[in-house]
Amino acid sequence: MIKTDQATYRQCELLGQLLPQREILPSDSQYFKVKDFYWSAQQAAVSPQCFVQPGSAEDVSTIIKVAERAECPFAVKSGGHAAFAGASNIQDGITIDLQLLNEITVSEDRTTTRIGPGNRWVDVYSRLDAKNLMVVGGRVAEIGVGGLMLGGGISFFSARRGWALDGVRNYEVVVASGEILDVNLESYPDLYWALRGGGNNFGVVTRFDLETFPQPGMWGGMAYHSMDHNVTLNDAFFNFADAAHEDPDAQAYLAFCWLKDYESYVIMSEVTYARAVEYPEVLKPFTDVPAMSTTVRLRNMTDLALEMNATNPNGMRQVWMTGTFRMDREMLQACVDIFVEELQPVKYLNGIVPAAIVQLIGKDTIANFGRNGGNCLGIEPGEGPLVNLNLAFLWVDAADDEVVERVIRRVLERCEAKGRELGVWHRYIYQNYAGKHQDVFAGYGEENLRRLREISKKYDPEQVFQRLQPGYYKL
Ligand SMILES: Cc1cc2nc3c(=O)[nH]c(=O)nc-3n(C[C@H](O)[C@H](O)[C@H](O)COP(=O)(O)OP(=O)(O)OC[C@H]3O[C@@H](n4cnc5c(N)ncnc54)[C@H](O)[C@@H]3O)c2cc1C
Repeated sequence: MIKTDQATYRQCELLGQLLPQREILPSDSQYFKVKDFYWSAQQAAVSPQCFVQPGSAEDVSTIIKVAERAECPFAVKSGGHAAFAGASNIQDGITIDLQLLNEITVSEDRTTTRIGPGNRWVDVYSRLDAKNLMVVGGRVAEIGVGGLMLGGGISFFSARRGWALDGVRNYEVVVASGEILDVNLESYPDLYWALRGGGNNFGVVTRFDLETFPQPGMWGGMAYHSMDHNVTLNDAFFNFADAAHEDPDAQAYLAFCWLKDYESYVIMSEVTYARAVEYPEVLKPFTDVPAMSTTVRLRNMTDLALEMNATNPNGMRQVWMTGTFRMDREMLQACVDIFVEELQPVKYLNGIVPAAIVQLIGKDTIANFGRNGGNCLGIEPGEGPLVNLNLAFLWVDAADDEVVERVIRRVLERCEAKGRELGVWHRYIYQNYAGKHQDVFAGYGEENLRRLREISKKYDPEQVFQRLQPGYYKL
């Protein structure tokens, strides 16, 4: 039986004795500072009985053992960028805040970097840029390493190297028994496969050892275009599926946004090239489109990630949802049209910024999903090129939650219906962009889900991470 609030509070006190200085109670002045340190207002509104900030894998092991023996509900937080309440925080439970696990160590041969889940990507990039090295990670400075790595990790380097999870050589992970395992293709191939997309279901990862590669410089940035260029940019994106195959250093995506203050829609194109080459030919179909403003220039990854951070403020109400379809010109346009048609009820809400973003999951990226024994996402090489549709709305007032949720759901439902009508809808649901109600693991395919459940029972026979850690997507 899961413990009541009082019993959980006693476990918080016990953790305070076992791990002095590591636990933060509501009576501590630090509590509200830590609680506010979530990206969305919904997550920051959740109040755990205590936060615990482990300083080592051994500390994490102690916490998991205490939670397991006392049947205490808990949540795990890395960068706190998952949008919905309870994803990485837990009302009246214990929230394990990993921010002190912030190691960044490049191996002597410069081919691997050990990265703690307490880091934000900007910490990683600034360290690696100084050495002209890079790893595959997130694109926005303040996102946490942990959540991004365990769900996927779309990056500027994905065509050449896959998603971030494809670049993990080894995980240090605390499993349900409290054991600390080094998980790689040789040691625990089944758990290694499961961690590459399995989210928070298999343990608490206390270190990711990531493939590291030379990266002397890059080029790119964002440009804002008027909606008059909608068809041209959609065509550019459609053709980019083949062009990117020819030149996998290129990356491009489009974001369609409503700007209330300007009473207009804009299209943001984000283009990058993973080498220090200005205006590469492959990206000309985007860069030749007239822009109201552009930031493209030669730069490094840290600079790009910081720029992207500025458009993603903390402390707002947020809801994200997602779907996947096979690249199709008509479907791309339908997504834009549906987004525009359905927005009317929310267009003038306080602080509203709704966006529909399309990103390529190209053939080369999918080919990389097969590296090192493959990941568990369930996308096969013949299925690409695919497009990820990410619906992301932010606003200010809690009173508007219901209407915003209704509208974003309606946009997704209509896009899915259109995708099915055109025969291009794909079952995959990207965990890191999904809405709370979306059945992420069903999207991995029946066989993968069956295998994930089997592996979960093997390493977590009491199903600690399913029962006691209820937040986020369960198997
Ligand atoms: C502004 C913004 C930009 C983004 N950009 C990108 C992008 O470029 N590419 C991309 O692919 N995605 C992107 N995302 C999505 C992002 O990958 C997810 O939101 C991700 O969950 C964030 O990770 P986090 O550690 O900050 O989140 P958290 O909320 O801390 O964690 C998310 C989930 O992972 C679990 N978790 C975290 N760390 C661990 C761990 N060490 N062990 C076990 N479980 C853990 C948590 O329990 C939680 O359930 C972006 C999101 C935002 C808000």
